[in-house]
Amino acid sequence: MSNFNVQSGCGDENEQGTLTVSQALQNMLGAITERRNTEQIHISEAVDRILAQAISSPLNVPSHRNSAVDGYAVLQADLPSGEDTKTLNIIGRVVAGHPYKDELSGKALPSASRKLTLCRSKGELQQGDCIQIMTGAQMPDLADTVIMQEHVEVTGDSIRLDGRHTGGQNVRQAGEDIQVGQVVLQTGIKLTPPQIGLIASLGIAEIRVKTPLTAAVFSTGDEVLSLGEAAKEGCIYDSNRYSMISALKKLGCNVLDMGIIPDDPEKLRLAFEQAANSADVILTSGGVSVGEADYTKQVLMEAGSINFWKVAMKPGRPVAFGNINDTIFFGLPGNPVAVMVTFYQFALPCLQKMMGLSKPLISPIIKAQCSNTIRKIPGRSEFQRGILSQTSSGEWQVCTTGKQGSGILRSMSEANAFIILEHERTSIKKGEWVNVQPFSGLF
Ligand code: AMP
Ligand code: MG
Repeated sequence: MSNFNVQSGCGDENEQGTLTVSQALQNMLGAITERRNTEQIHISEAVDRILAQAISSPLNVPSHRNSAVDGYAVLQADLPSGEDTKTLNIIGRVVAGHPYKDELSGKALPSASRKLTLCRSKGELQQGDCIQIMTGAQMPDLADTVIMQEHVEVTGDSIRLDGRHTGGQNVRQAGEDIQVGQVVLQTGIKLTPPQIGLIASLGIAEIRVKTPLTAAVFSTGDEVLSLGEAAKEGCIYDSNRYSMISALKKLGCNVLDMGIIPDDPEKLRLAFEQAANSADVILTSGGVSVGEADYTKQVLMEAGSINFWKVAMKPGRPVAFGNINDTIFFGLPGNPVAVMVTFYQFALPCLQKMMGLSKPLISPIIKAQCSNTIRKIPGRSEFQRGILSQTSSGEWQVCTTGKQGSGILRSMSEANAFIILEHERTSIKKGEWVNVQPFSGLF
């Protein structure tokens, strides 16, 4: 049984010390390693998956010189200058996917519209000639410049152009965007729709991505009711499991929902055993405050290792963190808002590291003007739930979502951001600038 080594510092196992939020996070991150499993999938399944290989281009993009506009391919030598104009004969037409040289050799497929083109193609481009060309069509061999169709006067089989054009205009060169062998995507990124389009543009159908993490989730507490159970005096419905499972699914984890585990050492032991055998990470809520955690502590100390940390934060003070073999354990507090805050501040960056994301996706912190007062004592970080918006003049402003009790889940569901009040900060006056962390689509 291998236990990882959590950096020692104030607040390690059984110590009464308190950690700051960043100390707790650093301890956790220091104990976590990236999971190595990967799998091969088709790109149509790849959105939001984490790339486990660098993608280098097997071809030039564009693969051939082509026209950037609908117009006429000409020779630079034919461009008039100044006030002069020039008349050129249209000797053919070329559309995307059918190179002009194929038209000449008769290799192009004779679809109805192609026939028209074929009978109008009159040999290689020479001075005094032009070839009508569509956007994306391959440039005929000798042509080096394209005149937009809006800039010519067409009369029968000829065009007239004026002196405003420059040689080489409106032509995309082969390899102009990407060259053969160039690395276009690095390993460890979460794939977006345009990145998947980019991979497809290189002719690549299958890619290697990280295998999703499996997260086991259960709730603890004799007062916690399953959905479907009749409401009982003194009891509450299990909301934490559903908010956590939803956040984990959004992150792309496979979830093992283990229900509610009663405060019974044997049942808890079995639950941890099963979770450790099948999951990369175990997340629980409740039962980590002093006096409550005895069973969890006992089981985890036998099977792996466990730290109970008091973190100087509100909400979310007690947090447990440990492991059973390679499976990481987050024991989040029971209060529904504290669960969400500690999930976002601790579990999220750790899970992103485990998943192999090269850059964590946590949203940047922005400065906003607070439109209400907030009472705050120094010596702990606070994560107030806020509504971030922009004024008509474009300034960011934020207000709290009313009552901020850590059991008031509505404060969280109405919010779109955390107002972060740093460790040493004191009360906030109306109009003061505060740091705000938008939820970035996770909550
Ligand atoms: P605990 O950390 O176990 O002392 O729980 C703190 C508070 O969170 C108590 O009011 C619990 O009833 C509540 N709580 C614990 N687990 C859950 C849960 N799964 N869903 C909703 N509330 C919970
Ligand atoms: Mg409890």
